[in-house]
Amino acid sequence: MEFVDSTQITEEEKKYYQSKLEIMLNELLEGSGDTVQEMKSTNQEFPDPTDRANYESERNTALRIRDRERKLIKKIRSAIVRLEEETYNVCRECGDYIRKQRLNARPVTTLCINCKEIEEQKEKTQQI
Ligand SMILES: [Zn+2]
Repeated sequence: MEFVDSTQITEEEKKYYQSKLEIMLNELLEGSGDTVQEMKSTNQEFPDPTDRANYESERNTALRIRDRERKLIKKIRSAIVRLEEETYNVCRECGDYIRKQRLNARPVTTLCINCKEIEEQKEKTQQI
């Protein structure tokens, strides 16, 4: 589909982003269900300490992934709300429009490319 990089999101584009976000959301919701199941079913004793260590590290990875998924789910849900409110492509920092090219690549973004770069700079300096 053609994306006109104007400020307004057309009805057609709105539907496109909506279904894109809903697909992402459904995949995540189905996926996290699996992780919970696996974690419950592998709750057992380990005679070999190596197995136990492996299990612990796998479990930690699973928890980290789940944490990331939870955050992403929240972002997707708020993106769907922003689509409804027609603020989906408005940068939360400067109020400028986020380019559609960027929204296509990162459908949950709330920052325009300039603000994103500034934020990343800040994060880097904070880590030092
Ligand atoms: Zn901005």
